[in-house]
Amino acid sequence: MNVLVLNSGSSSQKSCLYQIQHAPQGDPPECIWQGKIDWSGKAPEVSIRSARGDSSAGAARNTGRGSVVERMLQSLWSGKTKAVSGPSEIDVVGHRVVHGGPRFFEPVLLTSAVRTAIKKVSVFAPLHNRAELEGMAIASKLLGAVPQVAVFDTGFHHDMPASASTYPGPYDWLKEGIRRYGFHGINHQYCSERTAQLLRRNPNRLRIVTCHLGNGCSLAAIKNGRSMDTTMGFTPLEGLMMGTRPGSVDPGILTYLMRHKKLSGGQIDEILNQKSGLLGISGISGDMRDILAAVKKRNARAKLAFDIYIHRLRLGIGSMIAVLGGIDALVFTAGVGENSPKVRSSVCENLLFAGIKLDQKKNRKIPQDQNISDRSASVPVLVIHAEEDWMIARQCWRLLQEKSRPIS
Ligand code: ADP
Repeated sequence: MNVLVLNSGSSSQKSCLYQIQHAPQGDPPECIWQGKIDWSGKAPEVSIRSARGDSSAGAARNTGRGSVVERMLQSLWSGKTKAVSGPSEIDVVGHRVVHGGPRFFEPVLLTSAVRTAIKKVSVFAPLHNRAELEGMAIASKLLGAVPQVAVFDTGFHHDMPASASTYPGPYDWLKEGIRRYGFHGINHQYCSERTAQLLRRNPNRLRIVTCHLGNGCSLAAIKNGRSMDTTMGFTPLEGLMMGTRPGSVDPGILTYLMRHKKLSGGQIDEILNQKSGLLGISGISGDMRDILAAVKKRNARAKLAFDIYIHRLRLGIGSMIAVLGGIDALVFTAGVGENSPKVRSSVCENLLFAGIKLDQKKNRKIPQDQNISDRSASVPVLVIHAEEDWMIARQCWRLLQEKSRPIS
């Protein structure tokens, strides 16, 4: 089965082609074609790589988002990075959809009714869901009636206990869909399954705290494969400090800004999504690499930004351990989690009470899917490479297998 995964974000569009021959298990495979568009610069930067090692990279003519994505996908069957002989060889397209709202949590086959319903829940995550709907339209245009599957980043957290998913506001909020949904669920779920696999432990007897630290950051408390709590909530703004988002702040600040500074909803949205977090405090950047470089040069605001980031991370991990009643494994994943020994060691410094201690030598290397805890520690600390696309491909495979199974 050739599974094309489209992972559309507000600042990048990642795509991967997987070839799945039998029930997926074990190590995640390499994808046979990979494309990425980075929208953050003046012109979109497109890079494409095939499994044979052919690649192309460079700025694309900015002829509109849709047409840049179309040209990238066409390189699946034309030019030097060609991986299949034509669009008809794609069996299914999987889409990461950030917000499923109250209605969607399980992966679902797209029909026009489902697309309309996803459009409706776009009010919850306007930037993301718009890009995803566009990706679905492009796939239909290029690939015709190929089955398409939506996999929701909120899905894994759907079964959190009501005490974790309900805001203690008016009860009516629940009826309006104002509740804690949680995000990064595709990767939190992947990491919990991968942890059980790497530790050779029964996934139904594990309490794991997963730290997804990328541009967006969230934690999940996972017990026996089920999400018990997570730091993001109604939107991906709640919880930890992030690159350009503050994480949780006193909601009184927002009403103060509205009342006394006369800021509009749009202006507050911009502050919370683009002008806060590491960037807001340091005034330098939302990228942890730039913050660490500035800390080395003794920049005081960068140091404060780093210290808040670590403080809030420790607070969050402590809370998650309390929710789980203990911890059997701690996991670091995504850009910062996988690549920053300094972040990992600073966070773990205070977690000795929970049986967590790093082997500093292992931590300093760029470990991938490895245990970096000290021999004397009772709790393994794993660094796991985020594999959202592979998780989506697996869900597509599973869904199509179920659909094709004869009803007995
Ligand atoms: P996204 O959340 O957009 O999927 P990623 O998971 O790829 O992003 O994480 C991107 C972030 O990872 C960057 O903004 C940067 O802060 C961080 N990062 C990447 N490499 C390193 C590194 N070597 N050290 C510290 N942080 C890093």
